Amino acid sequence: MKGGVFYWQPGPGFLGEYTMQFERPDGVRILVRVKIVPKRYWLRLNDLFVRFGQTTCKPIGPKCGECSLRAQCRYYKEVVRPKELMLARAR
Ligand code: SF4
Repeated sequence: MKGGVFYWQPGPGFLGEYTMQFERPDGVRILVRVKIVPKRYWLRLNDLFVRFGQTTCKPIGPKCGECSLRAQCRYYKEVVRPKELMLARAR
C-alpha cells in the first residue's frame, strides 16, 4: 500500500498476532505488529488498563521504578532510563 488510509476490520477468524508491512512513498518500509484480543476479554482488559493508569502509569508522575512493563516500555527506554543514568553519573 502506498499512501492513503488503511482499513482493516478482522472477523473472529482473525484472532491472533499479525505483522503487516507498509511502504511509504519514499520507499521506507514499516512493519506493524498487531495483536487481536478476543472480545470476551475486552472488559477485563479495559479494567486492567484503567487500574494500571490510575495506580502505576499515571499521567503525572508514572511509577516506572515499580512497573513490570519497563523492559517493553518505549517511554522508559527513551526518556526515563537516560535521565536515571545521567543522574547516577552525576553522583
Ligand atoms: S515504565 Fe512505562 S508503562 Fe511503566 S509506569 Fe513507566 S511509563 Fe508507564
